[in-house]
Amino acid sequence: MADELLSVDEARERVLAEVASPLSAEGVPLAAARGRVLAADAVSPEDVPGFDNSAMDGFAVRSADTAAGRLRVAGESRAGAPAARGLETGEAIRVSTGAVMPAGADAVLRIEEVAERDGGIEFDTAVEAGRDVRGRGDDIRAGDTVLRAGAALGAAELGVLASIGTAEATCARRARVATLFTGDELLAPGEPMVPGGVRNSNAYTVPALAAGAGAEVVLRERVADSLEATRDALGLALAAGDVVVVCGGVSVGPHDHVKAATAELAVAERFWGVALRPGRPTWFGVHEGGPGQRGALVFGLPGNPVSAFVTFVLFVRPALRALAGAPSEGERTSATLTAPVPRLPARDQMVRCRLELGEAGWRATPTGPQGSHVLTSMLGADALALVEAGPEPAPAGSAVRVELLRAAGWA
Ligand code: AMP
Ligand code: MG
Repeated sequence: MADELLSVDEARERVLAEVASPLSAEGVPLAAARGRVLAADAVSPEDVPGFDNSAMDGFAVRSADTAAGRLRVAGESRAGAPAARGLETGEAIRVSTGAVMPAGADAVLRIEEVAERDGGIEFDTAVEAGRDVRGRGDDIRAGDTVLRAGAALGAAELGVLASIGTAEATCARRARVATLFTGDELLAPGEPMVPGGVRNSNAYTVPALAAGAGAEVVLRERVADSLEATRDALGLALAAGDVVVVCGGVSVGPHDHVKAATAELAVAERFWGVALRPGRPTWFGVHEGGPGQRGALVFGLPGNPVSAFVTFVLFVRPALRALAGAPSEGERTSATLTAPVPRLPARDQMVRCRLELGEAGWRATPTGPQGSHVLTSMLGADALALVEAGPEPAPAGSAVRVELLRAAGWA
């Protein structure tokens, strides 16, 4: 492994090269579509608003009649209940905000501009045509493309889809992610501690990250450190998942069985080893499915809690976004370091950072000790900053690329 470490970018490219297209599309009821990704452009079949309407509570009038200062009230147009007839000369029709403008009316006198007397209104302001009227199609015209395929559906997108009458959004189906956690030492929270026991924290971080990237977690199993157990669990995971994430057991120790199990189950290695800290022994392969079948993507992540977290964000998350049909660019930005960071001669580092907005853009401050077992310094981290390999510490003020941990528009 040591001779062939890939750069972070090369490794990610190899992962993305295996996602030729998003998963198949399905209709998702709009109320359940938050965080999903559109699989097709959304084109409006209708104008929005669908009719000229009043922007104010008041009276719909003909602007040409308003010099007179007095008009007869001839009816009412309420939201959902248009006036029975149009406007004749010398008339006004009472309107509510959003109600249909009666035929013949071209402006609105606001309620506070008029005095109501003897079945009429009196006022001393003439108004111009179009005043306080919202035109049909002001927001969206029939035939407009309102959202493109690849859009992540958040509040605004869901609202716009609803406003054009979409009952079901067409979205790539959610990726099924099967997760395995290898280690004889692992204890679930709640199990009594034993000598040498280690809490299975990855069984919480990894599924949470997968769900956060829009996937559905279909399997979450602890696996003993034997080849048989690893092979059996991997077989189940390959049957259940579009993506399999195995944590731990991917190094070269006598109790690391993931590589041997993948070889036995026809999962072809695409890389093993990234020039990265934390996360060097990351493994990636593809299950050889039958003809025309999409083979599951298999990630072997190192077991240390921060290593698993970081390598998920760098390699698994982009794969899940690509399977959903979403671009990953929104998950990456740049920042400047607020403090010097020691560098490694031959490996890039992902440094847990807090971000704050300075005058010249984002500023990244390491959250604390950066050991791969120190999960608490992930608390309060907004991003992972990529500090490239180099001979000397990266000085304060250096520009770094960052991976955002909480990107907009996600589930
Ligand atoms: P491994 O990658 O299996 O060599 O594990 C490296 C370190 O990570 C060891 O200290 C393990 O106990 C720890 N570790 C492995 N899996 C997990 C897990 N699921 N949750 C927390 N720590 C783990
Ligand atoms: Mg282990």
